[in-house]
Amino acid sequence: MKSEYTLNDNARIAVIGGGPSGSLFSIFALKMAKMIDRKINITVFESKDFTRDGPVGCNRCGGVISEHLIQALSIEGINIPTEVIQRSINSYVLHTQRGDVFIESPAAEKRIATVYRGGGPKGIRIKEKQSFDGFLLNCAVEEGASHSPLRIDGIRNGDKPVLTSGGNDVMEADLVVGAFGVNSSTWKMFEGLGIGYKLPETTSAFITELEMGFESVSSTFGSSIHFFLVPEPGNVKFAALIPKGNYVTLCILGKDIDEKTVRGLLHTPAARMLLPQDVLDGKFCKCFPKLPLTTAQVGFADRIVIIGDAGSSRLFKDGIGASYMMSKAAATAALFYGISKQNFAEHYLPAYNRTRNDNRYGRFVYAVTNAYKNIGILTEAMVNVVNKEQDRRNKEFPRLSSMLWDTFTGNETYRNIFLRGTNIGMHKNLLLESAKALFRRSS
Ligand SMILES: Cc1cc2nc3c(=O)[nH]c(=O)nc-3n(C[C@H](O)[C@H](O)[C@H](O)COP(=O)(O)OP(=O)(O)OC[C@H]3O[C@@H](n4cnc5c(N)ncnc54)[C@H](O)[C@@H]3O)c2cc1C
Repeated sequence: MKSEYTLNDNARIAVIGGGPSGSLFSIFALKMAKMIDRKINITVFESKDFTRDGPVGCNRCGGVISEHLIQALSIEGINIPTEVIQRSINSYVLHTQRGDVFIESPAAEKRIATVYRGGGPKGIRIKEKQSFDGFLLNCAVEEGASHSPLRIDGIRNGDKPVLTSGGNDVMEADLVVGAFGVNSSTWKMFEGLGIGYKLPETTSAFITELEMGFESVSSTFGSSIHFFLVPEPGNVKFAALIPKGNYVTLCILGKDIDEKTVRGLLHTPAARMLLPQDVLDGKFCKCFPKLPLTTAQVGFADRIVIIGDAGSSRLFKDGIGASYMMSKAAATAALFYGISKQNFAEHYLPAYNRTRNDNRYGRFVYAVTNAYKNIGILTEAMVNVVNKEQDRRNKEFPRLSSMLWDTFTGNETYRNIFLRGTNIGMHKNLLLESAKALFRRSS
């Protein structure tokens, strides 16, 4: 049934932000509109130029595209081209206080990709690859969206929302999609609309790009991401070295990461073993981006919907995968049901809440991982169980390895990881290895 909140022919949609969630929303909405034979006009406002190197062209992130997302995109007909993929990843190495473990993809296929979100690290010399965000934005444009490089700096909420930039009205929209992430001040505009929107709580992370040269990255890292599960520095949840082309991305997640934390981590034995001194002495492209810890309060209103990091995202992992899910849910609600607050409450909120609820399991999974990271006996037990599983991986299901794999890759929901962790046999193995470790320490 048609209402004033139906997207009619020639409806105008303004998408604020051309990161993954804004571009994916545009692609899905335009595909769905074609399916129901409706003409809609989408303008994506994105002020960054993703072809430029350094922070000005980049939505700062580790750049790991999960197996789950690669598959989901390919089903949608969005195949990430080789010109965008920096490396294919098939394994993880975990560095712990009690030794290292190597975990291969349970599927034994190279399906994780590493990418640059923008044009690469500042001052990049050999630029042979394209930006992931640029690729998605191009897909949206090919699907029929328009890209405007304007930065939106105001919204007036009347009968229909009006967007402004530089003091000028630029568009009256039937629907405004807030895909602005958590790394700009755009949230203030949405909080100021009086719709009850409140930005998620955030914390600061750290990213730096270390130039090592293609051969050196290949011989040191191969197709593995290296994870640091070490107790010091204490505010680090985990840190990863992610191989790209000529560079390795160091990404540190945790609470209030600062320069001191970064120095502490780079001086751990595992980091010193992987990174030559001349690399550490080099000048890095680095940043302290924010990431969401909670879900935004009130992610929609009449003619407004907020997606991606600015709305509801996954805790610490696979934020781009969460953008995919939220943008698809929002596009489905808008195209097939309508754009009123009620329509979004019925058809978008369930997906929004699913992510929020799954993050509760995520908090538990990380609390347990933290204990295994910090308590030496538990670390040793975990390392030994995983090593045995990897030796026998063709004969039996490597349960703990697969849980760690899915936790670090973001390949599974936290709920499924939690449920897999209720296996009694696995706990018996861990208990046995803990007892052996205790015995070794005390004898
Ligand atoms: C340290 C770190 C590492 C991460 N690593 C990974 C990883 O390896 N894999 C993964 O899947 N996720 C990772 N993430 C999460 C991932 O970066 C986010 O989940 C993802 O970028 C969210 O996409 P988005 O489109 O919602 O927001 P963003 O990517 O932040 O995009 C928002 C866009 O909106 C634009 N914008 C904002 N305001 C305006 C305005 N007023 N006018 C016009 N344009 C505007 C910005 O320029 C930007 O391009 C990581 C995050 C951090 C902080």
